Amino acid sequence: VRGEDELATLGRSFNAMADSIQTQIRELADLSLVQQRFVSDVSHELRTPLTTIRLASDMINDQRDAFDPATARAAELLHAQVQRFETLLTDLLEISRYDAGSVQLEWEPTSLAHLAEDVIASMQQLADQHGSDVRLVAPGGYSPVEMDARRVRRIVRNLLGNAIEHGEGRPIVVTVDSNSSAVAIGVRDFGLGMSPADVERVFDRFWRADPSRKRSIGGTGLGLSIALGDARLHGGSLAVWSSLGRGSHFVLTLPRQEGAPIEASPLRLDG
Ligand code: ADP
Repeated sequence: VRGEDELATLGRSFNAMADSIQTQIRELADLSLVQQRFVSDVSHELRTPLTTIRLASDMINDQRDAFDPATARAAELLHAQVQRFETLLTDLLEISRYDAGSVQLEWEPTSLAHLAEDVIASMQQLADQHGSDVRLVAPGGYSPVEMDARRVRRIVRNLLGNAIEHGEGRPIVVTVDSNSSAVAIGVRDFGLGMSPADVERVFDRFWRADPSRKRSIGGTGLGLSIALGDARLHGGSLAVWSSLGRGSHFVLTLPRQEGAPIEASPLRLDG
């Protein structure tokens, strides 16, 4: 019957289409694997010469008082750019580890509030340079929760660094709180803030807001994408509220128990 023939033909063309889509997906996956390996290989290859360059630039920079002003300035610039390059390589390697799915968290019981105190103390000098007063409000979050402390410290350092850098010297409030299922840390500034379009892109790799805001020596635009990767590896989340000219509020939420679902709105850290 004609209808059956048509159905069979249709079926065959559907199958062919499905095959072709599958092949394309496989090719794309291969391509992204090649890309991942390329990024990882290049970063590894650059590490060794860069270490030598850094040692040399450290030496030159240490002697800069003995140079004429122009050479001293060049030594200083070299030193800062080499440091920036090292940060970029470290971040790229980290990103390629996420892409390869090869990151293993090192879980240890950690007090988020104590961790926040440590990070704030370690960044006091930077805060002073920007005239920012960093306050910690920690009604909860002192009791230990399993987390990869090194990675969580890095997230908090990143959030606080951004708040200081974009905070226009206004106060910064760090809040740590917890409930039965989660602990959360919020970093809030009252500085430049971001437009809704900026907020959409803030976790994108290499993204940085409007060039006019950039310092001559700036970050890599990878900090927040790494922070989000770390939050997700913990089964947690990283959220942002921001308003142009009024400031930003980033909140990292971590489940108390590995793999436990986080309540939709566990803590009061919003808005
Ligand atoms: P980096 O700090 O290296 O530029 P991040 O990924 O940490 O990279 O941040 C990306 C961009 O998001 C920053 O360059 C900045 O434009 C914007 N941003 C991040 N935090 C804030 C903040 N607290 N206030 C305003 N803008 C911010």
